[in-house]
Amino acid sequence: MENKINVTRSSLPDFEEYCDEIKELWESRWLTNNGIKHRQFEQQVKDYLGARNVTLFTNGHLALENVIEAMEFPVGAEVITTPFTFASTTHAIVRSGLKPVFCDIKPDDYTIDESLIEGLITEKTCAILPVHVYGNVCAVEAIRTLAEKHALKVIYDAAHSFGVTYNGVSTANFGDAAMFSFHATKVFHTIEGGAVCCHDDALARKLGYIKNFGIDGPESTPYIGGNAKMNEFQAAMGICNLRHLKEEIEMRKSVVERYRLRLSGIKGITLCGEQSGAVTNYAYFPVVFDRAEFGADRDEVLHALEQQDIKARKYFYPLTSAFECYHHMFNPEKTPLALRISQSVLTLPLYSGLSRTDVDRICDIVTGCGK
Ligand SMILES: *Cc1c(COP(=O)(O)O)cnc(C)c1O
Repeated sequence: MENKINVTRSSLPDFEEYCDEIKELWESRWLTNNGIKHRQFEQQVKDYLGARNVTLFTNGHLALENVIEAMEFPVGAEVITTPFTFASTTHAIVRSGLKPVFCDIKPDDYTIDESLIEGLITEKTCAILPVHVYGNVCAVEAIRTLAEKHALKVIYDAAHSFGVTYNGVSTANFGDAAMFSFHATKVFHTIEGGAVCCHDDALARKLGYIKNFGIDGPESTPYIGGNAKMNEFQAAMGICNLRHLKEEIEMRKSVVERYRLRLSGIKGITLCGEQSGAVTNYAYFPVVFDRAEFGADRDEVLHALEQQDIKARKYFYPLTSAFECYHHMFNPEKTPLALRISQSVLTLPLYSGLSRTDVDRICDIVTGCGK
């Protein structure tokens, strides 16, 4: 059992620390609906990210659906996005009655290829929804220029990028809105949870209503909202985890540095490039295998690790455009690079507390698969 390694492991504060944080809730009996922990945590996230507005949600996916809803795009409008992402990004677009238009990604950081976006814009395009995939920052300046030129909204799926900055600015501050996920598997979490950051005060106010049934007061309900509120126990976990985020990221950094040392320069193995100007949060460690060069393909490496009770993940395979729920609606061949990466990428185990011995063991198995 002790040799078993999962792809991730949720960070947790000390049990006593969390108990201290939730003690007040037994006294107040105020468990959800913008309670004391919620207000405190919201302010802390705002300060941490340097964001003008932060709206907390019960999870990242509903945060994304709610911000799309708040923008009131016409039904059937097109959203330019990436298929190289978690199911949530594409589902949020489709579940909102909009049409995803898939753009290919770049070979160095796997984010949306900004040079291909303009060619996909039609008179129906309403927004661009890029993903800071693996915590890699999208070409935020070029995307902003394009969006201004064509009067499009930009919503970032920033689920992977809590704590990431570009030229000193948090990814919370790019686009018309940025969504974070605080899911248990993310670098920073509130068990389940999420947030939308935006500059526009009116949008933030509207999000506050939409996540709470559209209610604006005891006798006023201006929006057809749902329920996507973060509760007090989630917020309390966020308060605890935020205290330790810096060391969490430092510990991940040392794991990633060890991986890089062991796996860089190996023929047929491509690691994600480090982005200039960006400070990463070390959210994932994706490795791309070229079968011809390396001597083994992604699935063989995955299998070899599995044999030793080590779980890696084909993150992201398949492309969302190839999901069976979208049968024949999209053509994954239209994003050839994303297709190739999805067929050859593996994210290796990464969490704070993964020992150097374990990283070395994983690397030995990986390199042992090569020729
Ligand atoms: C985790 C994730 C989401 C969804 O967040 P939840 O908090 O799990 O609902 C959305 N997009 C991406 C890219 C993610 O990784």
